[in-house]
Amino acid sequence: MKSATKRILVTGGAGFLGSHLCERLIAQGQDVLCVDNFFTGRKDNVAHLLKQPRFELMRHDITFPLYVEVDEIYNLACPASPIHYQLDPVQTTKTSVHGAINVLGLAKRVHAKILQASTSEVYGDPEIHPQTESYWGRVNPIGVRSCYDEGKRCAETLFFDYWRQHQLRIKVVRIFNTYGPRMHPNDGRVVSNFIMQALKGEDITIYGDGTQTRSFCYVDDLIEAVVRTMDTPDDFTGPINIGNPREFTMLDLAEEVLRLTGSSSKISFKPLPSDDPKQRQPDTGLAGSVLRWSPKVELEAGLAETIAYFRTRLEPQSRAHSEAADFAELA
Ligand code: NAD
Ligand code: UDP
Repeated sequence: MKSATKRILVTGGAGFLGSHLCERLIAQGQDVLCVDNFFTGRKDNVAHLLKQPRFELMRHDITFPLYVEVDEIYNLACPASPIHYQLDPVQTTKTSVHGAINVLGLAKRVHAKILQASTSEVYGDPEIHPQTESYWGRVNPIGVRSCYDEGKRCAETLFFDYWRQHQLRIKVVRIFNTYGPRMHPNDGRVVSNFIMQALKGEDITIYGDGTQTRSFCYVDDLIEAVVRTMDTPDDFTGPINIGNPREFTMLDLAEEVLRLTGSSSKISFKPLPSDDPKQRQPDTGLAGSVLRWSPKVELEAGLAETIAYFRTRLEPQSRAHSEAADFAELA
């Protein structure tokens, strides 16, 4: 039997992950309301969905209340890359905290189920490796990354208080570094930086000595796990780690990008930003048992897709497109 169509709100739906999520939900036959203030997201990311009758796009800042009628909410609105969330740190905290209060209030009013896109950053620079959901983290409360890390931690607190106090149906996913097509080319994240530098023949900038590690998840794997989390029974709240446990150093990543692009760029070493975590790797045991999920896409295949996307962005006709101005704005 075909299940009934749901009305689903995706905040931050015009961003990198949000646009893939909207696409996935539309393909499932759901009604999707994408809300975004276009700070780091772009209309272009969802332009292909605009002709779908089940898709709606609304410009709105979630730090202000929103009155709509929906069955489910995915709360993704928040700049995710360090250079973007540090541009206006007060607004970053407001987006996480006031934004969470607004979407939770909405969920309470309309009895919607609600999922929070939290982050591995809640673990800070971790002493536990790999990170399990039971680890409370080691976060600097007053550093340059705090607006994001502490904002996300406070949002988790709000989600769990609404669950305890108002019996809201909540889900909290802790997303580890994710990459893929529609990443912002100037977002300063390591995958987009290395690929853009390699394609343009510029130096690949490794911060620090390049021995720090990250575990990179391809966007399609991530979206699958996020949707599965929303569909878990009501007594499952998370938090749940979602990411690819395969760990790489930044030196490994640079070499892989150089190999796959065939670029002759050189590697140059730059200072390590402050509070930069030395290692990060998800323990995905909970995701394996609860969601029956494990990531499928190997780094090589995921990078190849992402490189192909960035190549098209660098083509002259694409650069002439107005979107180039968006990119320059946040460069
Ligand atoms: P992104 O910057 O591409 O997307 C965020 C979206 O939120 C953008 O479209 C932006 O315009 C929108 N937005 C920002 N502030 C807003 C506001 N006040 N009101 C309405 N919209 C607003 O980033 P992303 O990588 O797609 O991340 C999506 C979510 O996933 C974020 O909450 C992020 O913290 C989380 N996350 C992402 C990663 C990752 O590796 N990509 C890792 C951990 C967590
Ligand atoms: N990084 C780097 N060169 C870059 C951009 C980032 O070496 O051009 C490093 C950065 O210092 C960090 C890692 O890559 O150690 C991942 O950075 P990113 O901003 O992608 O994610 P996060 O630090 O939030 O995990």
